[in-house]
Amino acid sequence: MIKRKVWETTSPEETKEIGRKLGEGAKAGQVYTLNGDLGVGKTVFTKGFARGLGITGTVNSPTFTILQTYTEGRLPLCHFDVYRIADPDEMLEVGWDDCVWGSGVCLIEWAELISPLIEELPADKVHRITIEKDLSRGVDYRRITLEEEENEDSRA
Ligand code: ADP
Ligand code: MG
Repeated sequence: MIKRKVWETTSPEETKEIGRKLGEGAKAGQVYTLNGDLGVGKTVFTKGFARGLGITGTVNSPTFTILQTYTEGRLPLCHFDVYRIADPDEMLEVGWDDCVWGSGVCLIEWAELISPLIEELPADKVHRITIEKDLSRGVDYRRITLEEEENEDSRA
């Protein structure tokens, strides 16, 4: 069954803090997909997530390199930004399999652009995060939705 959690934030710091908490709880083998328009806060969230994993260095969107790997935290983090991907096959060239089946955690900005690859993964591995604006609530308002399989731990 899919479990759904929703948070509302009104500043980048609050979004970062939600990322940090999720990063603190992240487990090896998990894949976090991040969807939402340009400038919605995917990278802000990722900076917090990396902090939660114990990564202290600067984290930016790897828009031109697609993948940046961080190994100084509690678990390795593969941070993808697939905005510029033209074909999901490019993912295989940058090391998709090693990241997804490796010992760390993956976080993918613009994951909807590689949905065929995401859909191939076991459902309990994928944690779907969507960030949305609602301008009627102010320019800094964001709604963050997390959808994931319940009972992940009870599955082998
Ligand atoms: P993306 O990676 O989704 O393209 P970024 O994280 O790079 O977006 O940028 C988000 C922008 O929105 C930043 O300039 C940030 O300061 C701003 N912002 C304003 N309010 C929020 C909020 N509540 N949460 C996250 N970012 C916010
Ligand atoms: Mg970004």
